[in-house]
Amino acid sequence: MKKKIAIIGSTGSIGTQALEVTDVLKDSFEIIALAAGENIELISYQIEKYKPLYVSVKNEKDAEILQKKFPNISVLCGEEGLITIAALKETDLLLVAVSGKNGLKPTITAVKNKKNVALANKETLVMAGELVMKLAKENNVNIIPVDSEHSAIFQCLNNRNNAKYLIITSSGGPFLNASKSEIENANLSKVLSHPRWNMGKKITVDSATLMNKGLEVIEAHHLFNFPYSNIKVVVHPQSYMHSAVEYKDGSIIAQIGIPSMHIPIQYALTWPERTEGIETNSFDFIKAGKLEFYEPDYEKFPSLRLAIEAGMRGATFPVCLNAANEEAVLAFLDNKIKFKNIYGITKSVLDEYQPVFNPTIDDILEEDKKVRELTKSIIKAEMK
Ligand code: NDP
Ligand code: MG
Repeated sequence: MKKKIAIIGSTGSIGTQALEVTDVLKDSFEIIALAAGENIELISYQIEKYKPLYVSVKNEKDAEILQKKFPNISVLCGEEGLITIAALKETDLLLVAVSGKNGLKPTITAVKNKKNVALANKETLVMAGELVMKLAKENNVNIIPVDSEHSAIFQCLNNRNNAKYLIITSSGGPFLNASKSEIENANLSKVLSHPRWNMGKKITVDSATLMNKGLEVIEAHHLFNFPYSNIKVVVHPQSYMHSAVEYKDGSIIAQIGIPSMHIPIQYALTWPERTEGIETNSFDFIKAGKLEFYEPDYEKFPSLRLAIEAGMRGATFPVCLNAANEEAVLAFLDNKIKFKNIYGITKSVLDEYQPVFNPTIDDILEEDKKVRELTKSIIKAEMK
């Protein structure tokens, strides 16, 4: 029987690669629903190709146009559209591949409706990891990681009780060998030229500051229920070892392969099975040559420490970190602030922040909104 899937964020980097995986595994998957933001040309093409029953887009106007063009499907819009798709009784699995905070509510909705979630959107766990994992447990559903490092750990962690350390690798991003001043004065095109991965703009900027790695530490803390003191970050520029687990007896089990997001995406979609699929080339150890490992440079990449510290402080500190960082990244992408100010602004917002302890989802959403407004006002003042 085909697995029935819904993909939110189908027009993005992860979403399009997920559809490429299903193209190869046509007999395994049926696309029930797709959701996108504003790329109407691509979602139209996807509707024609995959014939989903439901589609959602960000804006009402676009939804009206699509509904006229495709009268046989249900076209929804906005946050409500994402939530409706997340709750569809027809689906077996929801792939959450939207960017930023848009992933949180649909993930919670899917979990409450007892659907397994393939989760690419790390912001969901950064904002509300404790609540989401608790809900998943209560509803007996699985959160299957798509992020390559977390997919690697998911594959290596077969005995949680005997595992000692999670070892998360980082490529080091585009500025691995740059000086501090080169990094501080980097322009947009340098920041967006990631050496290993072709991703959406927000995560690409986070990969240049190493904020992404900090967010991933928080993500791993929640997904695998590991204390921060037992999560290590290691720079591995070749990106062949995607992460590892060290066990009590000293054994380390690592996941290695070509650096392609198709592999973790496919594993999340086919889990618990493994099948032949989109990547057919074997990893060539001989051609790969040297695999190098370094300690991260927290001086050059202070965002990494800032994120881990926010995670360790708990409460709604990670909500604040995530919101302030995302607003600062958007401002950088809009040419409103310099690259170095992403860290400066995020830190200054965190320094003044009064958290909410034991937050509910509503508290989290409220804090997220508050922090975004504050961050935007700081950005406005900086621009003057
Ligand atoms: P992209 O920016 O490439 O894609 C984002 C997707 O979300 C697009 O389909 C976009 O639609 C959609 N979207 C944005 N806003 C809305 C909205 N308001 N309503 C509905 N859809 C919306 O991002 P990535 O694919 O790179 O990343 C997605 C998530 O996966 C992120 O959380 C990221 O951290 C995570 N991730 C990504 C990796 C990667 O390799 N790319 C690796 C690991 C994790 P549209 O384009 O139509 O506007
Ligand atoms: Mg990753």
